[in-house]
Amino acid sequence: MTARILVVDDIAANVKLLEAKLSAEYYDVITADNGRTAIEVAEKQAPDIILLDVMMPGMDGFETCCELKANAKTAHIPVVMVTALSDVSDRVRGLESGADDFLSKPVNDVALFARVRSLVRLKMMMDELRVRQETSGRLGAIASEFELADSPAKVLVVEKSRFTTQRLSEYLSEAEHDVVCADTGERALELGREQTFDLVIVGIDLGGEDGLRLCSQFRSQEETRHLPLLLLLEDMDLPRLAKGLDLGVTDYLVKPLDRGELLARVRTQVRRRRYHDRLRERIQASMSMAFTDSLTGLYNRRYLMTHLDRKLMGIAETGKPVSVMLFDVDHFKAVNDTHGHGLGDDVLVKLAEVASNNLRSVDLVARLGGEEFVVVMPESNAATAMQVAERLCALVAESSIDLPDGTPLSVTISIGVAASDNAEEMADDLLERADAALYAAKNAGRNRVKLADPPAATQRSSAAGGHY
Ligand code: GH3
Ligand code: MG
Ligand code: MG
Repeated sequence: MTARILVVDDIAANVKLLEAKLSAEYYDVITADNGRTAIEVAEKQAPDIILLDVMMPGMDGFETCCELKANAKTAHIPVVMVTALSDVSDRVRGLESGADDFLSKPVNDVALFARVRSLVRLKMMMDELRVRQETSGRLGAIASEFELADSPAKVLVVEKSRFTTQRLSEYLSEAEHDVVCADTGERALELGREQTFDLVIVGIDLGGEDGLRLCSQFRSQEETRHLPLLLLLEDMDLPRLAKGLDLGVTDYLVKPLDRGELLARVRTQVRRRRYHDRLRERIQASMSMAFTDSLTGLYNRRYLMTHLDRKLMGIAETGKPVSVMLFDVDHFKAVNDTHGHGLGDDVLVKLAEVASNNLRSVDLVARLGGEEFVVVMPESNAATAMQVAERLCALVAESSIDLPDGTPLSVTISIGVAASDNAEEMADDLLERADAALYAAKNAGRNRVKLADPPAATQRSSAAGGHY
């Protein structure tokens, strides 16, 4: 994962040092030696992260951060404030000026890379989300998405020291987060399975229990696999931190707890988690959009063809036949002409409902297009499929929708049924046979079901009516 990092510091030696460390990890580093230049560079070169020194002559880090965050072109870039060691008031000011994270000087390598990695991931997720949002034409929604990412979180705290637990609860509650505490690892894992959290804070030493082991258990348990883990440790535990990061700890805090730092880290982790979830939902939604018909909510043609090909190939394994029915509304043009296209749509929606509600759950109903639908019935032979089709045909004729004046309107359908017990047959061919049967049903007077000829015979005669 490569990323471009802007390092801002007025002392050349500091810049060189960070540049060397980051370049060694294959990050692309750009630099600036004052706040003004930093803003210009950020606007032009769009870095993924900004490491910003606090103490600079003229415009200091706080001012620079405020301007970056107020500028629409740079507001989304995570800023890490590089502060003098243990200067708590600096951290609080940094947080107020919109910084996303902190690093203390002298910069420790593990800390540097942990922060950078975590923020690069967050940034990429945010960028991805923005791109998707732009493509889906909902630019207006961005602001509210970003606000939502910072709404109160539900945090699970697993820590041995009562004092620390108390402090954590206090700080988090003041920031309106919802806190749940667990005093053993086992209880924490159980809570993780039962409830949905945004973040877990784990003490590295749980009084006889190893906090790192617990982190690894959180990672391997299905329900908690993706939860951000914030490790709580003392200075002397720092050598074990690298191990923790390997195990999937997403960030850490060193005691004594600093309120500003705690809240900043919680905010970053929770944001990342929420963007991640949002992105996954988006992807699922766009996938389901690509495979469903927007009018009826049924599967569309694209999905149907893939599904049917897969079912047909499955015949080789199951040895069971697959049947399809292809149905089409009778004289549908007249419905549109008499009652309007909108009412025609209502009829199609009703039809989709009747079909979906009266078939087995393993049967797949799809809208092929227009007023034509297909039902795929796995493990069904021609005789079974014919029975199901006859029943559906009768059900449709009995059902109706209400016209605006309250009078019921019914339509009928004609159905072509085709069965296959041949793993070699493709979806196209099977549907072509069903179509020929449908054509025969129309010719025979509509509102009826016809069974297709077996493959070879149909292929010769289908030129007559099929439109596949
Ligand atoms: P047949 O019994 O031979 O099938 O007669 P038909 O009138 O149903 O057949 P035809 O194929 O001539 O007409 C189909 C009509 O379906 C024409 C088209 O306007 C209408 N149609 C196709 N898709 C939609 C749709 O999504 N909504 C509505 N309301 N009408 C549609
Ligand atoms: Mg029709
Ligand atoms: Mg038609």
